[in-house]
Amino acid sequence: MDNLLPLPTFNDITAANGRINGYAHRTPVLTSRTISEELGAEVFFKCENLQRMGAFKFRGAFNALSRFSETQRKAGVVAFSSGNHAQAIALAAGLLNMPATIVMPHDAPAAKVAATKGYGGNVVIYDRYKEDREQIGRELAAKHGLTLIPPYDHPDVIAGQGTAAYELFEEVGQLDALFVPLGGGGLLAGTSLSKGAMSPDTALYGVEPESGNDGQQSFRTGSIVHIDTPVTIADGAQTQHLGNYTFPLIQKGVRDILTAGDQELINCMKFFAARMKIIVEPTGCLGLAAARQMKDQLAGKRVGVIVSGGNIDLAKFSELTSR
Ligand SMILES: *Cc1c(COP(=O)(O)O)cnc(C)c1O
Repeated sequence: MDNLLPLPTFNDITAANGRINGYAHRTPVLTSRTISEELGAEVFFKCENLQRMGAFKFRGAFNALSRFSETQRKAGVVAFSSGNHAQAIALAAGLLNMPATIVMPHDAPAAKVAATKGYGGNVVIYDRYKEDREQIGRELAAKHGLTLIPPYDHPDVIAGQGTAAYELFEEVGQLDALFVPLGGGGLLAGTSLSKGAMSPDTALYGVEPESGNDGQQSFRTGSIVHIDTPVTIADGAQTQHLGNYTFPLIQKGVRDILTAGDQELINCMKFFAARMKIIVEPTGCLGLAAARQMKDQLAGKRVGVIVSGGNIDLAKFSELTSR
């Protein structure tokens, strides 16, 4: 399928950076002597677990909604997601005074439904086994004139996500390597644009769950590979394929795609909590897990890790970290 819109460029990242200014948090870049000693490298963590609503997705959602025309704004936005994208769209829409409709599966965790409603989202529940959420989304969009914003495969979403790495490079300068969690590729594609302009020699790595390495297969074969929904605790990266906008940007700017197993993610969750006093969701641990695997190649280097999110309920957190 052909893309209707042009691919985003670095100019779109700087424009997005201006739009989110004052709405998104400029998240801190944290360091840890323990991890720098472990890797023999200087490691910088861009902490998007401390972003509004708990993940970088607020950046892309807010940037996309800020670009709506007056007509689009009046009718509002529709999104389908049970995860961080839903909350990001609901929060961004609330801040921009527009209605948001979020289509969620009947078995979505009650906490996520409640959080989305709490941000002012109008939640429409569908039966995951009997109904097709894309069709429901499209019908709602057609009937009420809503604009659909997908979780990753949209130029404005990609440009917004790229502002996290933009801030990181602005703050710490050039890096030798940068590790980024990978689902559908919005964060990685946006990061590759920022890297290309601000730190072109950085070796950029996307990191997926081991059980869902469609991005690695796509990157290595040169065409988008589709897989079944992978079984992993990294629920933010349970995507089945990269997108038509994200894939070419990833092909162009990324050095390689790596994977990490669930137990490695748990070890990183424990590290973040015990040593750095931060709560990171399993998907947010993908970058550090891959950096740890590549330890031998990172000695003496300046290494960035994007910590993409921190949304995990406490019961799940304690269950996983006591395994
Ligand atoms: C959505 C998400 C990802 C994956 O982002 P993509 O843009 O789909 O690649 C990674 N981490 C967290 C916490 C997320 O919510």
